[in-house]
Amino acid sequence: MRIREMVKSFKPYRVLEGNYRIWLDKNENPFDLPPEIKEEIMEELRKTPFNRYPHITADPLREKIAEFLGFEKENVIVGNGSDELISLILKLFEGKHIIVSSPSFRMYDFFAKLEGTDLVDVPLDEHFNLQNVEDYAENAKAIFICSPNNPTGNIQKREKIISVLESGVPVILDEAYIEFAKKSNVDLVNEYDNLIVLRTFSKAFGLAGIRVGYAVASEEVIDYLHRIKAPFGLNSLSMKTAELMLDHYDLVKQNINYIIKERERIYKEFRGYAYPSEANFLLLRLDAYEFLLEKGIVVRKLSGRLDGHIRVTIGKKEENDELIGALNEFIERF
Ligand code: PMP
Repeated sequence: MRIREMVKSFKPYRVLEGNYRIWLDKNENPFDLPPEIKEEIMEELRKTPFNRYPHITADPLREKIAEFLGFEKENVIVGNGSDELISLILKLFEGKHIIVSSPSFRMYDFFAKLEGTDLVDVPLDEHFNLQNVEDYAENAKAIFICSPNNPTGNIQKREKIISVLESGVPVILDEAYIEFAKKSNVDLVNEYDNLIVLRTFSKAFGLAGIRVGYAVASEEVIDYLHRIKAPFGLNSLSMKTAELMLDHYDLVKQNINYIIKERERIYKEFRGYAYPSEANFLLLRLDAYEFLLEKGIVVRKLSGRLDGHIRVTIGKKEENDELIGALNEFIERF
């Protein structure tokens, strides 16, 4: 039996393993939860019956998120990371193709390919702003807008987002990094029932390991999404942890402010090479991936249109100091 000819063929994950000191490659939050909050979570978990299924649609967490954002529970769906929700959204809508704007988050392409959906790429312009995506809206399944955009860090203008929404096609506005930006567009959900805003606990909330993401949309869209979602999808442990972190938003906010301050410090240092960012990372026009790796610092190497660029996650001050030192050495040498 030739398995290779019987399966959908994708590249395997490449995992970089090694004794590297500083990991600035996955846009993670550099701060783990302080011990007292972990203790509080443990206490909650002790009270949680492990023999019982969690709430079928994770309503306790949906309620907390809704309250946090000023929406109703019916406007929120939670998933195993926002990645799961991207895949779910692609399953829900009819249509021939999705529209993406490269360079952007590659998981949109990945899930589209998995679903057998065609991809139309309307690349971002030279300032990484959206171009005429509306022109390709006919028969589209969805239009993806990532703002702040990964890996470029910039946000898209509100007027442009509205113009895309006016096409009437489902628009997925990925706000994974929005807590590091000046302003969200989640309020547009009140006006546009074709808007789905994606958010995550993996970045600003520092909970990448517990895998919780959510989407905010009209009641109708959320209801349809729930109908195709596996029941009990979010485990009790992750649900409780995310709920508790919403009660500690003061700490989350403190970390956000720290990261923004550090981001601006690194940006100023490499102004000639860095692009302005409203996320927890910076895009740098420096071909320093291997050089940094030799120094024990892991960043993201970019390719294609961003060949010769790296994306660096903002870390703790000490880590950023090392990064700055190493990059200055790279610039002097090359
Ligand atoms: N959207 C964007 C733009 C991202 O960069 C990421 C994570 N790298 C995600 C969504 C997915 O986040 P998660 O699945 O951890 O919620």
